[in-house]
Amino acid sequence: MRYIEPHGHMVSRTTDDYLDMATAGCEAVCEPAFWAGYDRSSADGFADYFRQLTDYEPKRAAKFGLPHFCWLCINPKESEDVKLAEDVLALIPPLLDRPSVLGIGEIGLNKNSRNELIVLEKHIELAARHNQLILVHTPHLEDKLKGTRLIIDALRNDRRILPERVIIDHAEEHTIKMVLDAGFWAGMTLYPESKCTAARAVDIIDVYGSDRIWMNSACDWGVSVPLAVPRAALEMRRRGYPAEAIDRLIFQNPCRFLGQCPKFKIA
Ligand SMILES: [Zn+2]
Repeated sequence: MRYIEPHGHMVSRTTDDYLDMATAGCEAVCEPAFWAGYDRSSADGFADYFRQLTDYEPKRAAKFGLPHFCWLCINPKESEDVKLAEDVLALIPPLLDRPSVLGIGEIGLNKNSRNELIVLEKHIELAARHNQLILVHTPHLEDKLKGTRLIIDALRNDRRILPERVIIDHAEEHTIKMVLDAGFWAGMTLYPESKCTAARAVDIIDVYGSDRIWMNSACDWGVSVPLAVPRAALEMRRRGYPAEAIDRLIFQNPCRFLGQCPKFKIA
């Protein structure tokens, strides 16, 4: 089995996780910028985090033979302070030329607040101006449906944004159709408790097929499973999906989306 982990917060994980992922057939890992589990006190905290993502973490992953890529932004959970967000956004343009930076993400909404929406629009503007791919985080549980609608509207409001260059992640049964119908890619996050279990994710594939869809573990500092993608592949195998269909979903699809950024190259 070979697969891509397109969404893992590896700065929060151990070297054992890298070893397990490489052993399971992982060929590359991509890390969107995210909340640290606490609010950073200034833009300097983000400058250090971006250095960790673009400099230190690729070296740590390389020790296990894994190419490491990242996405940059201020996450929606820390976007309530618009001035802080502006300071953080100003850090990003000079970093976009770094060899492992794939685009702007994971942006989006958390509580669907007015300020979050303002900062989301600033990120979309930044991505459009620099012709960057976009990775979107959608809110949790009861806020997801409304938040996904608001995000799709914000993306559509900017004519420069091509939907095939945007992936809207953490999609579930009630949001995946609207994401795909609007021409975007959809990500399914495999979590043991919230978001999708492997069984639910494969149910969704049964209904909607696997074109423009990827699966990820979104492993971070909370309850999450770095091997969730290969485990979901085992669930597909159990249900009779042929090897080619599994490979398309967990390897070829992420390569197709991410390959729109010429920097995404794996050996
Ligand atoms: Zn994430």
